[in-house]
Amino acid sequence: MIEVRNLIFEYPGHRAIDDVSFSIETDSVTALVGPNGAGKTTLMRCLCGLERPLSGDIFVAGIDVIKDPRRSHKTIGYLADTFGLYDELQVRQCLRYAAEANGVKNQIDISVTQTAERLNLTDRLTQRVGGLSRGLRQRVAIGQAIIHEPRVLILDEPASGLDPEARHDLAELIKILKVSGMTSLVSSHILAELGAYATEMLMLRDGQIIEQRLLGKQTESRRHISIELLTANPAIAEMLSTRPEVHSVNTDGARIICEVSGGNHTQQRLLATLVAADAAVVNFSTVEQDLQRSYLDSIRQRQTK
Ligand code: ATP
Repeated sequence: MIEVRNLIFEYPGHRAIDDVSFSIETDSVTALVGPNGAGKTTLMRCLCGLERPLSGDIFVAGIDVIKDPRRSHKTIGYLADTFGLYDELQVRQCLRYAAEANGVKNQIDISVTQTAERLNLTDRLTQRVGGLSRGLRQRVAIGQAIIHEPRVLILDEPASGLDPEARHDLAELIKILKVSGMTSLVSSHILAELGAYATEMLMLRDGQIIEQRLLGKQTESRRHISIELLTANPAIAEMLSTRPEVHSVNTDGARIICEVSGGNHTQQRLLATLVAADAAVVNFSTVEQDLQRSYLDSIRQRQTK
């Protein structure tokens, strides 16, 4: 659904996107993560045809975004990290305006009603946008991004400024939109929440993709094991990292998390090896790899390289 090849974007004197290539499958929800200044906003703006890259290709739903940005806008819904709303308009007028600007031709009133229902804004339709709270304004802005039923939704920091209940509602909305066939790319620093609905993680750092991985259930062939020792023991972590079935080792005090390939038999042999090496194991278990842990593991692995 999204295909990016060798994308390079430069601000005067600064390369913000440095030869980035990736693709995103239909019906996925991809968490775009990375430290401040990694290039997330710049990348999203390029995908939406709002910035002109130095070189590279971007295709969204088969449309060449660089050659035909206006056509791509009909396919993409975009929420900017800092968005503007017309404060003097009512919520209904804002949604109507977005519908017309995004090329909705028929049944605009139905689109407005449905979008207001999705965003829990039905009671607010006649209120002036300038008088709404930050969270409600955020919902209106998301409504404007989805009113034309785009196939691809790009949300830059949609959860910032929302209270816990509104963030929960946002997560539920993104899940519903996924079921209705929208492919989403969502950036946020609140990794624990992205993990609740993201199916993939794309990690950007210094303008480069440093990792793209599927999230979710452990596979039989690859799993993360948590090994808790009585006390921290770097020699055990060192020994684990030399084993062929162990792909990554991260230590956090007396706890070691390693990514292991193979099924139950490999896991059992690994435990036997630890016991034979006299490691004081107090706990040995499989752990679900959530987005926050994936992110921190990747950052740590790169810092130790
Ligand atoms: P954050 O998480 O803080 O929002 P980000 O990952 O979205 O950061 P970008 O806003 O895309 O990062 O910025 C990427 C890099 O480009 C940064 O080094 C930033 O300082 C620089 N940059 C962004 N906008 C401009 C601009 N208009 N002119 C010059 N440099 C810019």
